[in-house]
Amino acid sequence: MTWLDLPDDHPFGLHNLPYGVFSVGPDGEHRVGVRVGDHVLDLAACAERAGMESAAVWRDGSLDAFLAEGRPAWTAARDWLQEHLANEAQRDCVEPDLVPVRDVTMHLPFAVADYVDFYASEHHASNVGRMFRPDSEPLTPNWRHLPIGYHGRAGTVVVSGTDVVRPTGQRKPPSEPTPTFGPSTRLDIEAELGFVVGGATALGDRVAVADADDHLFGVVLLNDWSARDLQAWEYVPLGPFLGKSFATSVGPWVVTTDALRAARVPLPGQDPEPLPYLQGDGAYGLDIHVEVEWNGTVVSRPEFRDMYWSPAQMLAHLTVNGATVRPGDLFGSGTISGPEPRQRGCFLELTWSGRDAVTLDDGSERTFLEDGDTVVLRATAPGPDARPVGFGECVGTVRPAR
Ligand code: MN
Repeated sequence: MTWLDLPDDHPFGLHNLPYGVFSVGPDGEHRVGVRVGDHVLDLAACAERAGMESAAVWRDGSLDAFLAEGRPAWTAARDWLQEHLANEAQRDCVEPDLVPVRDVTMHLPFAVADYVDFYASEHHASNVGRMFRPDSEPLTPNWRHLPIGYHGRAGTVVVSGTDVVRPTGQRKPPSEPTPTFGPSTRLDIEAELGFVVGGATALGDRVAVADADDHLFGVVLLNDWSARDLQAWEYVPLGPFLGKSFATSVGPWVVTTDALRAARVPLPGQDPEPLPYLQGDGAYGLDIHVEVEWNGTVVSRPEFRDMYWSPAQMLAHLTVNGATVRPGDLFGSGTISGPEPRQRGCFLELTWSGRDAVTLDDGSERTFLEDGDTVVLRATAPGPDARPVGFGECVGTVRPAR
């Protein structure tokens, strides 16, 4: 308990302190903030009042400069924040810069540099393999040897609350002789976590698994909206393209990897043993509970601890060829799916490609998304002393094709 009078089990207590960018009112100036309880602390204003030399890093209304600074600065900022928020003597310095969260509008917290999406859930990859390639092995021969990924479109990563316009494009069901064109009829979500990368590497360098934590700043909720009809027709031989690139939503709060230390768990097990560059002390899993809500009904509760590949292995793999890391790089985990039907993180799997409709609480049935549908992702993780670490929400509503 501190002068802030927060209950110990508040998901945004001092053990969490996620970063975001807010304005007071939709058109106000963008400010870097830290969520504490039901308030947002205006970081630049508070750090300037406190006479903190490094306050300038937060003045631009984006996390970009802070992400560039790297691990020592992230740790120092967290220590400084926890001390100022806990210590009664600092109350007069901090309290004037606390804004009620109900008064703020959240914005994209950083300029997304490169965006990559992985495919790290064995359950998801196996289910999709069974549906897309029923006559082959569910997993491709490379799947257990490397974290499969593709390069997505950084410029269409949007913050929670941004509407998603139904994409239009080509599709060709196997039963049809030629492709047709029109609004997607199989619009889906993918419940994922996104990993926010900071610091930088030189072209030609790699990030080892054991050093990945130096670059893994934090974690956001991520919804990889997917047009399955477009995807199925275009993805051979070069992977997802227009079926994915129209929009990717991220949650407004970047939960730091420091806040997730108590959530580290062993991976579920890798067989065969990965190549040496994919091994190391940083190859841990994360115990993060995810929830998928469709028009107010919770339809799935995937567990991130079921993921086959660790975030550190994904970062080591994406740099093993010498590709650089830049501040603001974002990589998605891939759809989080578990072994149980109600742990499947996309509607393609939940409805088995549209065969088994999901019944929502209002009695309506769904296979894929209809115009006006709203999807909300939420997550929590265990923090120190089992206090919950909240991620907030990642919300998106589907609007008709244009
Ligand atoms: Mn995805």
